[in-house]
Amino acid sequence: MTNEIIYVDENSEIPLFGVDFLGIIDRGTNVIEIKPLTLCNLKCKYCFVSAGDYDTNFTVDPNYLVKKIKEVVNIKGNYKIEIHFAPYGEILLYPNLFNLIREIWKIKGIEIISLQTNGLLLNEEIISQLEEVKITRINISLNSLRSEKANYLCNNMNYDLDTLLKNISRLLNTTIDVLIAPVWFPGENDEDIEDIIRFIKDLRKKGYSEKKIQIGIQKYLIYKTGRKLKKIRPKSWGYFYDQLSFLEKKYNIKLKLGPFDFGIHKRKTAAFLKVRKNDLLRLKVISKGRWKKEYIGKINTNFGIKVLLNKPIIQSEKFIGKDIKAKIIKANYKDNILTASFSI
Ligand code: SF4
Repeated sequence: MTNEIIYVDENSEIPLFGVDFLGIIDRGTNVIEIKPLTLCNLKCKYCFVSAGDYDTNFTVDPNYLVKKIKEVVNIKGNYKIEIHFAPYGEILLYPNLFNLIREIWKIKGIEIISLQTNGLLLNEEIISQLEEVKITRINISLNSLRSEKANYLCNNMNYDLDTLLKNISRLLNTTIDVLIAPVWFPGENDEDIEDIIRFIKDLRKKGYSEKKIQIGIQKYLIYKTGRKLKKIRPKSWGYFYDQLSFLEKKYNIKLKLGPFDFGIHKRKTAAFLKVRKNDLLRLKVISKGRWKKEYIGKINTNFGIKVLLNKPIIQSEKFIGKDIKAKIIKANYKDNILTASFSI
């Protein structure tokens, strides 16, 4: 059950860079990834970020996001920028989405705005609003065209596949491009993946272009803090690509998509902090995190860090506002995502 939703604005002093589940992720390309909230309407059995189940959730003030996005774009260069909404949660639950998108379009250099969704909250009205605010592309996670399987994987007996499919065809008749992004769980939805490929091929036969309806099969990845599907062992990247090559030949369709296919290229990293694993860092504990042992630390105005308590104790407000020395346990330089641990 969700206990609390923390509102992240400038006054909260929670920085928008450095924390994986919140704010802005800059991977040193022309794509700027935005995570404006952590709420989800599902609790999928395979969710690698365990969304839908957080003790504390977060939602970010749109003005705060726009201000920081502007700063990032100015550093990266005001051309060919894509803003990609990819929250640890469901973007259509973000109440300020349409206004936020309108404001983002005003920033010089934005050429694409795309979002990821499980699609279940789509309806005629939302689709027309998404078209009105000129969303370029919507990526929909859909792992099966069979209700039972989709219900099982998403852990939701009310998963309304028929309505979702209806909404996908509505989207196809708008200006918005659609990318169907199934996760392949080896041994679990092998046939379903082929069903989805056939579904895409049929749509293309009906006249929808390769840009209008795309498919991006994702590899099932397991993370320590994510939920895992029982009995499913992820395969190697080599096996995954071999399987995609096999299906490409079988169905005469391109399935291996790379950065080039999405116009992704290297750009200056706007927010960068030079720290290494095992460094000791002074920081201020600024907020609780999603779980009892997680906090958000503030290193400076821009940079936050996920701080994990070494001992599983009941989350206590008494740490908030404290200056501590924490040890960096993970520094993902490519994505500028930091994690530290702290003992009490
Ligand atoms: S996989 Fe996506 S839709 Fe499912 S719980 Fe995670 S964030 Fe939500």
